[in-house]
Amino acid sequence: MQRSPIEPSLWYATAPAAPPTEPIDGDVTADVCVIGAGYTGLSTALHLAEQGVRVVVLEAKEVGFGCSGRNAGHCTPTFHFYSIPTVRKMLGPVYGERLVERQTNGANLAFDIIRRYGIDCEAVQNGYLMVAHAPSRVKMLEEKQRTYASAGKVTHLLDKAETERLTGSPRYYGAWLHPEGGHLNPLAYARGLARAVISQGGTVHTRSPVTGIEPAGTRWRVVTPTGAVTADKVVCGTGAYTDGYWPGLDKTFTTMSVMILATQPISDNVRKTIAPENHTVVETRDDPMIYKYNKEGRLVTSVFVEGKRGGDLEYTKKLTADKLKWMLPQLDEVDFEYAWTGDLDMQPKTFPRLFELAPGVVASLGYSGRGVPTGTMMGTVLSEWAMGMPKEDLTLPLEPMTASPFWMKFVPYLFLSATRARDQWVARREGVNPPAY
Ligand SMILES: Cc1cc2nc3c(=O)[nH]c(=O)nc-3n(C[C@H](O)[C@H](O)[C@H](O)COP(=O)(O)OP(=O)(O)OC[C@H]3O[C@@H](n4cnc5c(N)ncnc54)[C@H](O)[C@@H]3O)c2cc1C
Repeated sequence: MQRSPIEPSLWYATAPAAPPTEPIDGDVTADVCVIGAGYTGLSTALHLAEQGVRVVVLEAKEVGFGCSGRNAGHCTPTFHFYSIPTVRKMLGPVYGERLVERQTNGANLAFDIIRRYGIDCEAVQNGYLMVAHAPSRVKMLEEKQRTYASAGKVTHLLDKAETERLTGSPRYYGAWLHPEGGHLNPLAYARGLARAVISQGGTVHTRSPVTGIEPAGTRWRVVTPTGAVTADKVVCGTGAYTDGYWPGLDKTFTTMSVMILATQPISDNVRKTIAPENHTVVETRDDPMIYKYNKEGRLVTSVFVEGKRGGDLEYTKKLTADKLKWMLPQLDEVDFEYAWTGDLDMQPKTFPRLFELAPGVVASLGYSGRGVPTGTMMGTVLSEWAMGMPKEDLTLPLEPMTASPFWMKFVPYLFLSATRARDQWVARREGVNPPAY
């Protein structure tokens, strides 16, 4: 499948260079072979290399080529679609509690790695603000505070005035501040992780697309056009960018495209009034507007693309600019200087899935968003698996690979349209008059 290019992204223009890497050349052996150099693969490799495990990462293109190098850069230690009680209910008391514990500490893990390895990636951990787009949504924020307290998190509710001060927007009715959230330059983080892996003795081969995984006695041979890795264990961290190297793995999810847009640098006097403390801002809508700054003071936002959105770039830019200007009336002009797209790996249960493809081969994917903390966190889970942790002690159950149901091809889009309409209706009913979402 032809993937959209990563080069037009703001992160590509501004991230420090990747560490030098080469394609694999010939046959090598390792304890663990990791496929994919995104957060999942690199965090797995890092946690293994730190423990002295011989690990080789094979990446088809370049470090961070997939979602990890092109996402919006929010690092938010929450669940995207589910509340904490729902996760506990869906996974049961044992796995539910373990996943809640890992996911809600995912941002701390990522920022801790960044600090330990001195990764230069515009990392800012000073809080995530979820803002109520209609008065009735304040209740949802209260619920968040209560349920995240049950996971040991001290978070804060803000009134309208404080919300306006911290976001720069007069449009919101309250906010939930999670102090452990933050943001970063995602490609710079991926490249920094690769550098960290190499510093710990791991190997990263780029331009090394895996074409198949074949048994080799009690081990596995991971094959590319220029060489192969024979290893005891194989970890597949290829997310939405999975191709046909393991039959059926690319059918376990469907993709949804998201466009990220970055404005011109905002002038200093206006910048003082918008997110003056450099928070990440996300609305309570199911299809939320989000914004945060990059290091140059550009506002970075995103939009799901389907139909005319995405197909018509000027239309998409105008739609997004109108929304941003409505949220932030102090913006006279919004000129999106960067626009790029990436694909999410969506599956019905929107938390990560751990598929056992064969004894000794696992895949972790289907994150459906929130992958900056999640991919980093799953690296710890996958390294535990590779180090021999018993199945029943893993954070998530090891499941047999299952194909995504056919309705996943259209239901997420129907869900988006329905929730967009509902969110608009709620806002209008409560006297708020936002532009088309
Ligand atoms: C536009 C967009 C915005 C997003 N915004 C956010 C956000 O703000 N915050 C957040 O937390 N999450 C966000 N996400 C989600 C997040 O980026 C992902 O969940 C996460 O990066 C997934 O990481 P990964 O390592 O599992 O996969 P990826 O980063 O996709 O890495 C997979 C890698 O595998 C490689 N690969 C594929 N096939 C092969 C093969 N055969 N051989 C070798 N290599 C192969 C690919 O080239 C790729 O580099 C966003 C995603 C998108 C697309």
